[in-house]
Amino acid sequence: MSRSGLRFPVEQSQGRRYPEPPHPYRNEFQRDRDRIVHARAFRRLEDKTQVFTAGVSDHFRNRLTHTIEVAQIARTAAGSLGLNEDLTEALALAHDIGHPPFAHAGEEELNRQMSRFGEEFDHNLHALRIVESFEQRYARFPGLNLTFEVREGIVKHSCDLTPGGRPELEEYLPDQRPPLEAQLIDLADEIAYNTADLDDGYSARFFDLESVAASVPQYAGIYAELEHRFPGAPERIRFNEALRKLIDLLVSGLIEGAARATAEAGVGSVEEVRRFPQRLVRFTPAAAETNGALKRFLRERVYSSETLAEARRGSAAMIAELFQLYLAQPEKLPETPREDLEGQPLHRKVCDYIAGMTDGYLRRTYEQLIGRT
Ligand code: MG
Repeated sequence: MSRSGLRFPVEQSQGRRYPEPPHPYRNEFQRDRDRIVHARAFRRLEDKTQVFTAGVSDHFRNRLTHTIEVAQIARTAAGSLGLNEDLTEALALAHDIGHPPFAHAGEEELNRQMSRFGEEFDHNLHALRIVESFEQRYARFPGLNLTFEVREGIVKHSCDLTPGGRPELEEYLPDQRPPLEAQLIDLADEIAYNTADLDDGYSARFFDLESVAASVPQYAGIYAELEHRFPGAPERIRFNEALRKLIDLLVSGLIEGAARATAEAGVGSVEEVRRFPQRLVRFTPAAAETNGALKRFLRERVYSSETLAEARRGSAAMIAELFQLYLAQPEKLPETPREDLEGQPLHRKVCDYIAGMTDGYLRRTYEQLIGRT
């Protein structure tokens, strides 16, 4: 099996909705990457919560720094597996641009509001609508006019589609797996947020090092070795050293797991990857176990903590109130409704408008229209 056969060649891209002449020195996926970086939705990631809201520390990840960490991990894995790094990077940089304010609390609340109308809010679909129409930058077309593979990766990086499930997604080959470059993003995302949340959770004093070691077996091994090698190093330094080893272990597990799965499946081309019934980017069993243990630890000690639960309730309540206010007083929506929102029902316009807000903009709007936060 030749690994290079699994690389998605940029020359085989199905291209853009609105054809454009080639660029003299950037290929199509590099251009997509640059368009994403220049998008307003990308810049807004700076003021969107990842897990910990800014204020307590200047060093917590926000959704922009998280995105950069995902891109760096995904590109390393893609390079090592002989995949297309440009496509991988574009997908990693775009993977969270559909996130609403206040992280998962925001997503759940928008979904709850939309379910009253028999609809839902999904951040991947929202991301697709951002790149297809909400971004208005170019004279010749709406949206960013990204290549098919980047749009496909945006809707399929974290889950497969169901054939016949959504008419608006039929063009994205719902009966097929996405190329390996897109499959990589989901696990690169997991590695980035699990290890970053461990780092930020430790900084916020949600737990001590002993409790991590007690819950995550491979971490205990790493930490014991470091204590032996650097007995005099300050605790924070030992924690950082352990964290980088943990990232390394998970990324290696991802690369090895994907190489093994593709070899065992006997796939030798992008077409075979697409037709294979399961996704082929996986962790090795050992890395999967560590990743799982880490997830459980974070759920127990960080995500379900009362401090974060209280913050989530507050954010969800603000979104719910603002949603109701716009439904009752649509004239409070911005005066120049975007063309792409014309013809949409009011609840969808409200949902899209709120989903596009940063945390800061939502707070300011709430204060202005409803009162003190
Ligand atoms: Mg993410």
